[in-house]
Amino acid sequence: MKLVLATHNAHKVDELRRILGASLDGIELVGYDGPEPVEDGETFEANALIKARAAAAHTGLAAIADDSGIAVYALDGAPGIHSARYAGTRDDGDNLRLLLANLLGSDDRRAQFLCAAALVLPDGFEHTELGIWQGTVLDEPVGGGGFGYDPIFKPAGYSVSAAELSADEKNAVSHRSLAFDAIMPIVRERLIG
Ligand code: IMP
Repeated sequence: MKLVLATHNAHKVDELRRILGASLDGIELVGYDGPEPVEDGETFEANALIKARAAAAHTGLAAIADDSGIAVYALDGAPGIHSARYAGTRDDGDNLRLLLANLLGSDDRRAQFLCAAALVLPDGFEHTELGIWQGTVLDEPVGGGGFGYDPIFKPAGYSVSAAELSADEKNAVSHRSLAFDAIMPIVRERLIG
């Protein structure tokens, strides 16, 4: 059984391969290098479905995708679905510097990472799951691991940034793990029965 992972983001492919791990038993995860659809949905779920639908249509195979980002309470949920292009450059450093600048002087540092996982089958079956990871925004970037906004995100219950966690530590609690842990039983049921 083949399952297409509809993402071109190398960091996310790495992280997802680790997260999916044993739950893939009997399923071959294949990469996707087909056309990237326009992500014009208004929610994480809508955008994850757009990506999974495009990969399922292009390959004729079952496809999973994710759409994720960080939502900051004091910024009314920004950058949210616009996280990857917040600063207009698609550069992680530019994005997190802009976020820190926009939060300067704010006492409310609460934020959450969100991840929608979507499954689309060639027969039209669709399903999504949402994972949420609560935390706060630090005053400056700390740590060299992870990607994106990890260096400025301090997960609730931790005294270090997400970029200081090992890959396994992050994957035990992250928004992406929560979403994919929830969707994998449905993937297995649909693909393997
Ligand atoms: P997507 O590829 O459209 O889902 O964009 C996700 C963007 O949200 C990434 O480019 C990151 O900036 C941010 N993001 C999502 N998940 C994470 C994470 O686990 N750590 C840090 N940043 C993340």
